[in-house]
Amino acid sequence: MRALTEDELRAALVNADADERRLATMPHDLVLADWDHLDFFAWRDPRSRGRAYLVTERAGRPVGVVLRAAETTSRARSAMCNVCHTMQPADQVSLFTARKAGDAGVQGDSVGTYICADLSCHENVRLAAPLAPSEVRASVDRRIDGTRHRAEAFVDRVRGEQGE
Ligand SMILES: [Zn+2]
Repeated sequence: MRALTEDELRAALVNADADERRLATMPHDLVLADWDHLDFFAWRDPRSRGRAYLVTERAGRPVGVVLRAAETTSRARSAMCNVCHTMQPADQVSLFTARKAGDAGVQGDSVGTYICADLSCHENVRLAAPLAPSEVRASVDRRIDGTRHRAEAFVDRVRGEQGE
């Protein structure tokens, strides 16, 4: 995706109010972000526990959402992230909810899904070992495309557009 500045990242948050945009803390390694290789940009707020952000690129424009991580974790032993489809120990997957954009959000509507607690889906899907040497490239590419598609679909649901 195109390299984004701190101001662009803040402005991209479609379900945030002015205070939330202003208070959003950027990741410490923002200057090191390898934008050329990113399909979307996600991070936990370094200062505000439980707050996180997911920014995608739609038609060349950044569109992102503010997320809140649930405090409780599942009692199951393992859980699957709904973005990268990686199985993780349950405490490494969190329920994230996002207030919907616009009037729906004002009325209390929100969208929730389970995502890797540290939002490292982008790396996880690339690090996951292939099931067999023969399925290496094509299947990794499919997983990468799927991860991007699911991250974008989630943002669309928060925007109030039809997603998955
Ligand atoms: Zn994930």
